[in-house]
Amino acid sequence: MDAKEFRKRGREMVDYIADYLENIRERDVVHNVSPGYLKDLLPEEAPKDPENFDEVFKDIERVIMPGVTHWHSPYFHGYFAPGSSYPSILGDMLSDAIGCIGFSWVTSPACTELEVVTTDWLGKMIGLPEEFLHCTEGPGGGVIQSTASETVLLCLLAARTRIVNKYKKENPEMNEVEIISKLVGYCSTQANSSVERSGLLGAVQMVKLIPDSNHSVRGETLRQAIKRDKDKGNIPFFICVSLGTTGTCAFDNLAEIGPICEEEGIWLHIDAAYAGSAFVCPEFRHYMKGIEYAETISINPHKWMLINFDLSVMWIRDSTLLVDAFNVDPVYLKHVNQGKVPDYRHWQIPLGRRFRSLKLWFMLRSYGVSGVQSYIRKHVNLAKQFEKLAREDGRFEIVAEVVMGLVCFKLKGPNELNEKLMEEIIEDKRIFLIPAFDKNVYFLRFAVCAERTNSRDVDYSFSVIRDCANNVLAVHSKTPLKHTPVVVDIDQQPRYKGKLISHNHYSDDEQEI
Ligand code: PLP
Repeated sequence: MDAKEFRKRGREMVDYIADYLENIRERDVVHNVSPGYLKDLLPEEAPKDPENFDEVFKDIERVIMPGVTHWHSPYFHGYFAPGSSYPSILGDMLSDAIGCIGFSWVTSPACTELEVVTTDWLGKMIGLPEEFLHCTEGPGGGVIQSTASETVLLCLLAARTRIVNKYKKENPEMNEVEIISKLVGYCSTQANSSVERSGLLGAVQMVKLIPDSNHSVRGETLRQAIKRDKDKGNIPFFICVSLGTTGTCAFDNLAEIGPICEEEGIWLHIDAAYAGSAFVCPEFRHYMKGIEYAETISINPHKWMLINFDLSVMWIRDSTLLVDAFNVDPVYLKHVNQGKVPDYRHWQIPLGRRFRSLKLWFMLRSYGVSGVQSYIRKHVNLAKQFEKLAREDGRFEIVAEVVMGLVCFKLKGPNELNEKLMEEIIEDKRIFLIPAFDKNVYFLRFAVCAERTNSRDVDYSFSVIRDCANNVLAVHSKTPLKHTPVVVDIDQQPRYKGKLISHNHYSDDEQEI
């Protein structure tokens, strides 16, 4: 493809994207294919000779779209909001065109420096203490990672290095393996599955703390767990506090947990992957009380801040804890300006990195702080609208306080009734949502996801749920229910041949404290 054709195809593609997004309401939100559908639509070998791009274009609708679940449809209510906006898409286009691999400042100074500026902008927008910003004298700052999962692993490994070094100094007779075998990290039973997985990857125990009746882990629970672990000779070293859990968008009590971490020398990481974007609105910042005790915090603008996947931002109070922990500096990566600006390769797991700050910059300049605030508040109001509809109906109950863009609800009655309701909604296919399970209660999650969702869409989605509830109640008010769990996983946990490999939201195997 030469530049002339690229201009033509590029215009066609931009038109296609704009049409796709503007008319997404007309598409069925859920795909209508079975596993293996795509291989029957394509040849077994790559084309031997070049094809005309017209043929490729035609196959977008023929091959790809039937197998797409439309995450940006206003009828998509699963998981959490996936970010997207036109400026963000344009930013990714330019990043692809520049195509630099910004592992150090010298590889493309703009790539590093725009990241420094935009992570500071964002940090100020959400009200972070200034120690987390590059623009102050200290070693703090922000960095763009791919995902919140990657961040929690990175923080856990940095915390592990810090504690191992401390113990080796104080107890020269102990070797590294011995120390690591005694390390204990903590998180809520409701923390995202990536936290447990980080424990596995980092070869340390991860103890799950039971939250209170508001789904919030309290300081006292942590204190007791620490005591128990220390009595066993273990070494508490890390906690991941969830501000906005995946299941119910609950907030652990940071204000109580923070001081305990300081007393005990525990690395406090805050996972605010979804709800963190809401801190751009001052009325939600009270959930961050205690932030001054954190070593690290991460939020996902690729969830609830209009940025296309992937762009997760992590801030660290003392970046030397990362840079010194995993510093490998071969001669071919060195440059004369080292030390004057961050070399972001030391702040992440991979070496290579894309120019992702472009899409953040484009979006922030196009929406402004006020535009992002209005978007968040609109979603919260739509969630409140859904909550009101569900309460007024009388047959539903709300399972967790609605504070962000998520409503956790169920039909009054046993879990089995709600499993049937979920099955009915899956079969109906007009909207997409997923269930969750907490404290032996099976419930459904209604997340406001798309930027374009409006009040009529919420009325429509609720009317679909009402229809499905009518059907279920018509049958099951007479027939007694058998237990047949629907296995749709809240966190897209891995499945193999239809079987869930790990499933920490629909099980009772939590480690009780
Ligand atoms: N943390 C929370 C609270 C989440 O809800 C999720 C995903 O939904 C994650 C972490 C994982 O995010 P990512 O896909 O960026 O790793």
